Amino acid sequence: MPHAETVELIPNAGWDERILVCRNGTLVNVFIVVTARYVVVVDTLINPATAQQLVDCAQPYLPGRQLLVVNTHADYDHAWGNQLFAGPRAPYPAPILAHRLAAAQFDAPEVAANLAQMQAEEPAIFGPVELTKPTITFDAALTIDGGDLTLRLFPTPGHTPDHIAIYLPEIRTLLPGDAAELPFPLARTADGLPAMRAGLAALANLHAETVLYCHAPVEAGPQLLHDNLAYFDALEAACRAALAQDPGLDPDQVDDLAAAVGCAYADVTPRGGAWDRVHPYYRTEGHAQQLQMMLTWLRGSGQGQA
Ligand SMILES: [Zn+2]
Repeated sequence: MPHAETVELIPNAGWDERILVCRNGTLVNVFIVVTARYVVVVDTLINPATAQQLVDCAQPYLPGRQLLVVNTHADYDHAWGNQLFAGPRAPYPAPILAHRLAAAQFDAPEVAANLAQMQAEEPAIFGPVELTKPTITFDAALTIDGGDLTLRLFPTPGHTPDHIAIYLPEIRTLLPGDAAELPFPLARTADGLPAMRAGLAALANLHAETVLYCHAPVEAGPQLLHDNLAYFDALEAACRAALAQDPGLDPDQVDDLAAAVGCAYADVTPRGGAWDRVHPYYRTEGHAQQLQMMLTWLRGSGQGQA
């Protein structure tokens, strides 16, 4: 699917007006949090042109406030507009805050290869991208005291090792990044899967009133956290049953994992509304990939024999 360079402000549907939600096509939502002290851009989109449009949205609030930038993680749809904020030619110099492991992600050879491939496929969109690391990193947690609003940044690894989420306690609002999404977040490794599920449980335990996701409609609400947890619980149950039947079941040797495990996408996700309009990837490869992670984790940890 080709990428779009449009960025539009989503009309406020009842969340705190100090949070602006900006949508890049159908790819991703990112956020601008306007506090008394700071304007915090949460994720920088896919390239300098889309990041520029974020700055345009933030501009009316910048007089008298320091600009801060946060990367929830280093993925291309969240951090490839960073060059606007750091580096010798940055037009809007600002601290870029992220988890310590985000910086390492920018150095990974597969990221450079991914960028080169995307530049070849869509030169107008990705040609101008210069990978730009965060400039302030943290390990355990970081608190931004905006004066009226507090942003608590904390690790939620699993989707990626560097992933963080953000909670604003005064308005009981959660920005989970890609730690939760419609129809489910994607663990990239078998080890990441239990971490991601623990992160989801921690996010649900915050009992946020408002949850604004990067990859779900703004009206999805806190229930999606529970739906995501239920999805992985159902996957675990199906995979345990399959391994009980066939302890030698090797996910790397099976073509159609959903059939082999007896766990189709439709069996383990709600129906209707936005659930029926998710990208086909999730129903097919995305679902199969999560089954593979689950089976690999259960086999590797010996938990499949429990
Ligand atoms: Zn994303």
